Amino acid sequence: MLAGVFKVAALALAALPVDAFTVSRDTAPGNAACANLTASLESSTVKQPLSLAYASSRHDYWNAIQSSYTPSCVVYPESAKDVSTALMAIKGAGSRFAIKAAGHNPNTFFSSVDEGVLIDLNEMTEKTYDAFTNLGSYQPGGTFGDIYNYFDQYGRTVVGARLAGVGTGLALGGGLSYLSPQYGLACDSFRELEVVLPNGEIVTASPTENEDLFFVNRGGGGNAYGVVTKYTIQTRPSGTFYAGNLIYVLDLKDKVLEAIRDFTRYNTDPKASIIGTYEKILTPSLGDLDLDQAIIMFLVYDGPDAGNVFDNFTSIPHLLNTLGKKSYPEVVNMPTPLSTEISRGDNIFRVQVHGIDDDSYKTAFDAWDKWCEDNKGDYILSSLDFQPVPKSLTDASNSQNGGNAMQMPSGPWFWLNFLLSTPPLLPKARYDSIQASFRDMVNSVPNAEGLPLFINDAAADQDPLKTFSTYSRLQEIQAKYDPDDFFADYTGGWSFG
Ligand SMILES: Cc1cc2nc3c(=O)[nH]c(=O)nc-3n(C[C@H](O)[C@H](O)[C@H](O)COP(=O)(O)OP(=O)(O)OC[C@H]3O[C@@H](n4cnc5c(N)ncnc54)[C@H](O)[C@@H]3O)c2cc1C
Repeated sequence: MLAGVFKVAALALAALPVDAFTVSRDTAPGNAACANLTASLESSTVKQPLSLAYASSRHDYWNAIQSSYTPSCVVYPESAKDVSTALMAIKGAGSRFAIKAAGHNPNTFFSSVDEGVLIDLNEMTEKTYDAFTNLGSYQPGGTFGDIYNYFDQYGRTVVGARLAGVGTGLALGGGLSYLSPQYGLACDSFRELEVVLPNGEIVTASPTENEDLFFVNRGGGGNAYGVVTKYTIQTRPSGTFYAGNLIYVLDLKDKVLEAIRDFTRYNTDPKASIIGTYEKILTPSLGDLDLDQAIIMFLVYDGPDAGNVFDNFTSIPHLLNTLGKKSYPEVVNMPTPLSTEISRGDNIFRVQVHGIDDDSYKTAFDAWDKWCEDNKGDYILSSLDFQPVPKSLTDASNSQNGGNAMQMPSGPWFWLNFLLSTPPLLPKARYDSIQASFRDMVNSVPNAEGLPLFINDAAADQDPLKTFSTYSRLQEIQAKYDPDDFFADYTGGWSFG
């Protein structure tokens, strides 16, 4: 997930045959919805295929495959009322649609649509901060980088993405942050949401109003329950961080893996947070130089002095160490500004969850390592990220608002994120067979029983909601707020089918 720097060199080597992905094309409902929208909204907020704004919305996806789809038009609501009007126009025409924040979810049709209406939330970027209550609010447009910059002027921040370019849809899927060991997931800091329901009604969801809607939107995955048009959140203090990357040769994989496991098991300081990423690119290894693979650690401490908390990592011989004092906006631009941009491509994620008391996380590493070695040429970049979920995180989650939609079992455990970035423009059959082989590799290692898969890192076919202990409750709440199955039938995203 945090990979990408590696990828630039590799991209140049990846010119492969063209075959557009085929999708069914019934243009009538989408065109009718766009005509309805043009009549009912200001013309400046509906854009047709020849406009620059349309081209930008269509292009701007982290998984580039989604840019091959052709929305009938793109609507840019400026308020909850605009969202409501748009939804009713779309419903009236029986058109497919998609809701897009920053377009980083790699699953196709989650925030992209072919021959339907794309609701791009990017014009909704209002933010507020109340110094008396330390509550803040943000609308769903823009990126977490924009949100951090806004709150930074007040010496505050919010629990959000670990990379600046990711959007607010992250918080609806939980939202794992460098601050999570202290404050829980991004969604745990929600205090109130403004939501446009599938029937167009604009409602408040909070611990005291529509509590069930508030519950599902805290980690239940977003667009199954309506459109969130404003997030009111508990902001957090933001001072000087001690943070940076350590880079190692992959030969040290076992030592680093052991250090990650020990940190996850023994660290009790919630101000310390890590991600361990193993990365491989498509280039040949060039003998002993081993230029095709590396380990990059992300080490973040909320405070100017980390003491000896990262000694396990700094004591392993490394190629590069960028640890030093940083502001939070600098932390979320590690290892390099625009990391999210560099890592765009034909990308998919898969996820696993493992405990720390057996060796299954190691088995997972070995399966990934072997797949990458056996399938050179089938990927530009593949990475495996180890993301600890410490007890302090699950305690912080469970102590706010009665816990989130995952009802987090007590830590420590790991979420593993697998990234596969395939060469561009592959013939569909080839693409499908690489995806199937990667999927089989991930499926070959069983997940820990009783722990939830992380929605934000999951592939659509992994059905992460089914791993939640709250699944049937989420299903009931979804049916209550979308009784006509309008969202279930007409947009992508997590479903309860
Ligand atoms: C480079 C990269 C780094 C990442 N880093 C992290 C990380 O640090 N922590 C983490 O937890 N996850 C991370 N992720 C995963 C990320 O959280 C998910 O991909 C998330 O879905 C992206 O949200 P988005 O707004 O950018 O994307 P989008 O694709 O625009 O939206 C994601 C989903 O949410 C829905 N949605 C968005 N906004 C709304 C809304 N207001 N109301 C209803 N539905 C909505 C969309 O319809 C879509 O289904 C990362 C992903 C990438 C690609």
